[in-house]
Amino acid sequence: MFISVSLCLCGIFKKDHLTNPTASVKPHQQMDESQFELDALAVFSHPDDAELSVSGTLLRLKSMGYRTAVLDMTRGEMGTRGTPELRAEEAVEAARLMKLDLRLNLGLPDGHIWLTEESRAAVVRVIRSHRPKILLTTHWDDPHPDHANTCRIVRDAARLATMGRYDLKEDEATQPPVKMPAIMHSLFSRHVVPSFIVDVSDFVEEKMASIRAHASQFYQAESQEPATRISDPAFLTQIEDRMRYFGSLIGVAAGEPFYVLEALNVDDPVALLTRPMNIYS
Ligand SMILES: [Zn+2]
Repeated sequence: MFISVSLCLCGIFKKDHLTNPTASVKPHQQMDESQFELDALAVFSHPDDAELSVSGTLLRLKSMGYRTAVLDMTRGEMGTRGTPELRAEEAVEAARLMKLDLRLNLGLPDGHIWLTEESRAAVVRVIRSHRPKILLTTHWDDPHPDHANTCRIVRDAARLATMGRYDLKEDEATQPPVKMPAIMHSLFSRHVVPSFIVDVSDFVEEKMASIRAHASQFYQAESQEPATRISDPAFLTQIEDRMRYFGSLIGVAAGEPFYVLEALNVDDPVALLTRPMNIYS
């Protein structure tokens, strides 16, 4: 089975963003969007996962001039609330609020994400098309099987994308292999100690707005839909509380925690270790 990459979500906001004079993507305005090169690509299972996990970091990267994108593995059709069509509209609005250059959706079946040849090849093709320098994804220690499997698919795909003879197709234009992108895993488990925490203090409001763009999923007083764990009004408070907690560990107002499997190569330990920290972290 060939799983095509849906570009249907990206055209609406990408066009607007490319006409923004402050955007950092001018050299690529003439580029076919299917070949649009990225600095950071966040790969998550469901249409609101990137917003909940790493949108503060994506907003920070965008403010620094990097090209950012989200790849959703599914359309979230297993969700108790909302429809795939409504969720797609919400994802477009959230992408605008996260200031993404691109948002893609693989259309894999929600609740049935598996590490298969098809799922690996689909992510390899996205990596080769957009050549991101870093990938942001879930940690493998995640209670949701879709999230844990997405992590495994991303790790496999990042490596396979470097192998020139992997996924060679005689009937398609060959995508050249890439240098393996670095992978940073977003953390929700208290059992994993972060490798680093990104200061997202300046992006809390924009992050929470991108989450609330998924209005079908979260608390709305007038909603007639069934209540879920994440539609409880306390859920979004907890998300913000977590940001405040991880920020406190590095002595700032808000942070997002990440784990990197590989040893970090530090150029300047003085610059690294004289940034705000908390000796009680
Ligand atoms: Zn999810």
